Amino acid sequence: IERKEDKKTEVVAKAKIITATEVKVNISIPDGAKRAYETGADGVGLFRIEHMVLGLPKHPMKYIRDGEIEEYIQKLYEGMKAVVDTFYPKPVWIRTLDAPTDEFRAMEGGENEPIEANPMLGFRGIRRDLVEDIHFRAEIRAIKRLVDEGYTNVGIMLPLVTRVEEVRRAKQIIEEEGLPLSKIEFGVMVETPAAALIIEDLVREGIDFVSFGTNDLTQYTLAVDRNNENVAYLYDETHPAVMKLIEHVIRVCKEHGVKTSICGQAGSYPHVVEKLVMLGIDSVSANPDAVERVRETVARVEKKIMLDKLRGL
Ligand code: PEP
Ligand code: MG
Repeated sequence: IERKEDKKTEVVAKAKIITATEVKVNISIPDGAKRAYETGADGVGLFRIEHMVLGLPKHPMKYIRDGEIEEYIQKLYEGMKAVVDTFYPKPVWIRTLDAPTDEFRAMEGGENEPIEANPMLGFRGIRRDLVEDIHFRAEIRAIKRLVDEGYTNVGIMLPLVTRVEEVRRAKQIIEEEGLPLSKIEFGVMVETPAAALIIEDLVREGIDFVSFGTNDLTQYTLAVDRNNENVAYLYDETHPAVMKLIEHVIRVCKEHGVKTSICGQAGSYPHVVEKLVMLGIDSVSANPDAVERVRETVARVEKKIMLDKLRGL
């Protein structure tokens, strides 16, 4: 692997403020990798691969029905490599496919997507990855290729986890595909109240990190559809119920040495970031245009925490 020492120096110079809490960046399409890297972010806290998949000429299941799974894996590999290579050696947490049926039905060959009354509560995230494990295995094979090439900065993150069995099964499949878990960082998103409330059990399954998906965590905790304008005024990531879940997860993860992060939209909001840094979150992943502002917020809060400590408060 070509080491990008020159580029690293240039970017470090741009990221003037150094913080203890890492400030990472979210990526949705491989073409956005360069711009995201230039923010000086400490890594990618969320690489949403479904946007890349939605941009393919046909639905993943169509590739599979057409006997072209290798072509699908190759496309996943190329997209992932663009991000992982750009950021090397900084970590890139790749989220496995989180495909809601309504979004994927529009694709060429997507006519078999089930019609659901509540796609957000339906066949998506890790539950889908495990039922249609052919998708999941394709992603793991693409990631394995990167790991085999020597990339040591790859992480896998599971979306919409609600049960320990999902974590257990996902780990089994990863190992079955010949990708040793010791060669990657492995984590889960905490984006359902269920995941937050069973965090101790999830941690016991063996995870390196959790990342708060506050977009979903907020909608499921408050029973507020994140896409429904009629109830948008009730959508609040800082609602005490959401904050209590987050606080609980950070406390338990700290006890067990599991890293905590946030990759939901709230990670781009200074008033939320302030609260999370106070709670001791390890990293915050923001949109590219928010990275600088978030870094400034993190630095200001860390300074305040240190000064308060010095003053014995
Ligand atoms: C979230 O739910 O906060 C999240 C980051 O995932 P997505 O927005 O892709 O559902
Ligand atoms: Mg989500």
